[in-house]
Amino acid sequence: MTSNISSTSMLARLNRRSSRAFETLKNVLLLYLILTRTLKAIRHLRARGFARTIVDLYTWVSQETLLLALRLPRLRAGVQRELAKARLDIEAGMVPSGPSVTRHLALPSFGQSAEWIVAEMDKMDSEAPAHADWHGGRVSGAVYHGGDDMTAVILAAITRYALSNPLHPDVFPAVRKMEAEIVAMCLRMYHAPDGAAGTTTSGGTESIVMAVKAYRDWARAEKGITEPEMVVPETAHAAFDKGAAYMGVKVHTVPVDPITRQVDLKGVRRAINANTILLVGSAINFPDGNADDIVALGKLAKNAGIGLHVDSCLGSFIVPFLAEVSAEEGWGAVPIWDFRVEGVTSISCDTHKYGFAPKGNSVVMYRSANLRRYQYYVNAGWVGGVYASPSLAGSRPGALIAGTWAAMHYMGSSGYRDSCRAIVSTARAIAARIRAEIPVLRVLGDPPASVVAFASAADPIFRKGSKLSASESSKGVDVLEVGDKMAKRGWHLNALKGPAAVHIAVTRLTVPVVDQFIADLKDAVREAELAPSGKGNMARLYGLGTSSAVGPAMVGHIAEAFLDTLYKA
Ligand SMILES: *Cc1c(COP(=O)(O)O)cnc(C)c1O
Repeated sequence: MTSNISSTSMLARLNRRSSRAFETLKNVLLLYLILTRTLKAIRHLRARGFARTIVDLYTWVSQETLLLALRLPRLRAGVQRELAKARLDIEAGMVPSGPSVTRHLALPSFGQSAEWIVAEMDKMDSEAPAHADWHGGRVSGAVYHGGDDMTAVILAAITRYALSNPLHPDVFPAVRKMEAEIVAMCLRMYHAPDGAAGTTTSGGTESIVMAVKAYRDWARAEKGITEPEMVVPETAHAAFDKGAAYMGVKVHTVPVDPITRQVDLKGVRRAINANTILLVGSAINFPDGNADDIVALGKLAKNAGIGLHVDSCLGSFIVPFLAEVSAEEGWGAVPIWDFRVEGVTSISCDTHKYGFAPKGNSVVMYRSANLRRYQYYVNAGWVGGVYASPSLAGSRPGALIAGTWAAMHYMGSSGYRDSCRAIVSTARAIAARIRAEIPVLRVLGDPPASVVAFASAADPIFRKGSKLSASESSKGVDVLEVGDKMAKRGWHLNALKGPAAVHIAVTRLTVPVVDQFIADLKDAVREAELAPSGKGNMARLYGLGTSSAVGPAMVGHIAEAFLDTLYKA
């Protein structure tokens, strides 16, 4: 009995003690959580600034509220109806229909002849909706060379290595050599130091996603960072957000200066913290063709001991030849954007853009082979054998590597220098003529290479410091309407937001049609001023994105419908 009592009281004492310990543990844990959360919040606040955080919060709350409201049956039905309509519109524009269209939804029971296959392709090429004719140079970007001679050279290489796969270098040694040489040539073009290294990938997006992976794994292994963050200009390519989403890296998006279109360096500095692994700069960026201040970004990266990736996917084979051409043409000094800049630790360059390689090839380069190692995937314990691959893909098309190698050798430095001269002259002429001849439009920044973007000169983004009142300055032309009127004239240009703008990426095919472009642009502006319809694709889709808080969510749904439609047989 006594022993029983004493053991109970001991148990109680023990319980009390352990519950005290538990309380302490709980408090420590709570404190830890509060501290880390607060730190996160402070970092976020510092990166975005107070006003932007409030706006972010407001947008988030209103979007969430509206999305919740959209669950209400009546609203939901309305939204679904609108979406169904949009879906039908998209299908009508993309999927051929009518009694003459044959749909091949199952394998033919027996193999068809080679002649049948060609005949069927002829038929598909002629079916409505008609494909845009890129030969006339009215398509922005998309096809970068288009010369028959170049196509023949690439096709010969592709045919020769059609069945090759660099996953098996022992079977296809020539393809291995060509891939290594493509990387070596690009490293030389971008003035990489000894010890630098790279790989080819399937395109700019994969180059960027791979770089994000390399920095994530590097920072984890060498700096112990487990909650990585990166700092990205708002004009950087969406591939960085995609890479960050795939790799679990938090992104701080920093605005650009509305006049220079370069990333705000103060904003970048504020966004850097102990978890930052990577800064990003573009040379040149996709939206408006301007380059960030890479030298200044390099200093920030070096001081923080973190990476700086320069996106030259679009700068491609233009930027490396720009200084020389610019000196010859008297265009003025060109800043340095490559490995000569201290602090630049990696660069992506798309061979399949201004390198004129077949689509499906790009190069990602690192200042050191050690950094490249973090891009690799190695599985030494796999049942299928030791598995090692340099990038996302396993099996890869050696034919595209051969095509790229052939294109680079067919062009040579002199060929790329000439193409740089022709393309940049054309872009400069377009920018100069818009400035001189179309005062209601305004060229964004001072684009140094191949892309020219224009907004309405009255866009509020340019208003800072001007004496115009809001009502006076908002009477500009609707530039998306201009883009739609250009589409009616056969031009395929890109719409941008923030500010609303339209861009053209000049290719070799644009060179002979500058006069036509300017003439059409003047007509389009006049028509947009006199008779805006609001019915074109650009005005509708981008209008939707900015008209309400649910706009972006709706645009997201419509974009998904577009992707679904890609797979409608
Ligand atoms: C095209 C482009 C990319 C992405 O390249 P893809 O080849 O389309 O995947 C990345 N950055 C810039 C600046 C680009 O223009």
